[in-house]
Amino acid sequence: MRATFVLGRIVGVRVGVHWSVLLIFGIIAFGLSQGRLPETYPGRGWAVYWAAGLCTAVIFFASLLAHELAHAVVARRNGVEVDDIVLWLLGGAARLRSEASSPGRELRIAGVGPLVSLLLGGLFALATWLLDLASVSGVVVEMAAWLAGINVLLAVFNALPAAPLDGGRLLRAFLWWRTGDRLRATAGATAAGRVFGWLLVVLGLVAFMRTGTFGGLWLALIGWFLITAATAEGRQAQLRGVLAGVPVRDAMTPGPLTVPAATTVADFLTGARYRYRHLAFPVTEDGATLGLLTTDNARKVPQAEANAVTVRDVMVPLSQTTVVEPDSPLADLLPRMEPGAEHRVLVMDHGRLAGIVSLSDVSRTVTWLMDNAGRRGGP
Ligand SMILES: [Zn+2]
Repeated sequence: MRATFVLGRIVGVRVGVHWSVLLIFGIIAFGLSQGRLPETYPGRGWAVYWAAGLCTAVIFFASLLAHELAHAVVARRNGVEVDDIVLWLLGGAARLRSEASSPGRELRIAGVGPLVSLLLGGLFALATWLLDLASVSGVVVEMAAWLAGINVLLAVFNALPAAPLDGGRLLRAFLWWRTGDRLRATAGATAAGRVFGWLLVVLGLVAFMRTGTFGGLWLALIGWFLITAATAEGRQAQLRGVLAGVPVRDAMTPGPLTVPAATTVADFLTGARYRYRHLAFPVTEDGATLGLLTTDNARKVPQAEANAVTVRDVMVPLSQTTVVEPDSPLADLLPRMEPGAEHRVLVMDHGRLAGIVSLSDVSRTVTWLMDNAGRRGGP
C-alpha cells in the first residue's frame, strides 16, 4: 500500500495518505453527524452536526498520526530508519527500513504506539469531564467523549498479541528475549496473528449473518487483512532463516559490465556491448560509480535526442540506489528488494564496485539453499 499523496514532513518523517482514508473519514463524519450526535443531543441545526462530525474526524486522524509518529520517532532513536508513515483504510502504518537489533528496542518501538493512544484516550476523557463541568454545549462534550472512547479502543486493539499488530511485535520481543531466537519468535507471533485473524473473520461473518449490519463485514475485512499480513511476515521470516549466514558476496553477480557516464543514449542502445545482456548497468566515470542505468530509462529518451543525451542524464543517481557492502547479510536486503531493473542493489567494497544483486539472484540463492539443505558447510 503506497501513499496516493504526500501531506509533508512532520518531525522529519514523510507522511502520506492513501485514497482509502477518504472512505473511513466519510464513514466517521457521516456516522457522527447523522447518527450519534443528533440522537444524543437533538434540536440543533444540521450545520452544527456536520461541523462537529467533520471536526471530530479530523482530530481522530490527528490521533492516529500521533500514534504512528511515536513509533517512527522511537524507532529512529533506537537505530532503525523510517521510510515513511502512510494513513489508509485500516489505520496507519509506519514503514521501518530494518528490524530492531534487540528485544528491548523492539519492545520500546512497538509499545510506544498503544501507549500514546491510551494517553490520548485519557486526555480526551479528562476533557470530556471538564467540558461537562463547564456546561459547554452537549455536542462538544459528545465529541470529546467519542474521541476518548476511540483512542482507548485503538490502544486496546493494537495491543492484542497478534502480528502484525503492535501487540504481536510485543509478543515477538518477549519470545525473542525468552528464547534468544528471533526467527522462532517471529514464527510464534505470526502464527498468533493468523489465528486471531481467522477468529475475526468467523466472528464478523456470524455477526453479519445475524444482524445484517456493515460492522460485521468490517470486522471480517480487518481479520482478512491480518491473516494476509501475518502470512507475508511469516514467509519473510522463513526466508531469513534459509538465508541466515549468507553474505551478499555469495549471491551477487561479481564484476558487472559498466557503462561510462559520457556514453550517449544512442550509443548505449545500439552498442553490441550492451545489447541483449542485462536490464540494468552501473554507470562509472574514472573508476568511480555514479549510479544505475536501466535499459527502460534509456528507451524513454525520444529518438531525436538520443545522440545528445548521455547516460549520466537518465541514470538513477547513486544516492537513490540501494548500496551494500559485500559482507553484509543477504537476509537484511529482503525487505528492501523489489522486482524491476531499477531496484538492483549495487555492492560496493570500500568505494569500489564489486557486484550487483537482483531479486532473481536472491531467489536463485534461496532455491539452491533449499535444494541442498543439509549439505551446507561442505567443500
Ligand atoms: Zn501502532
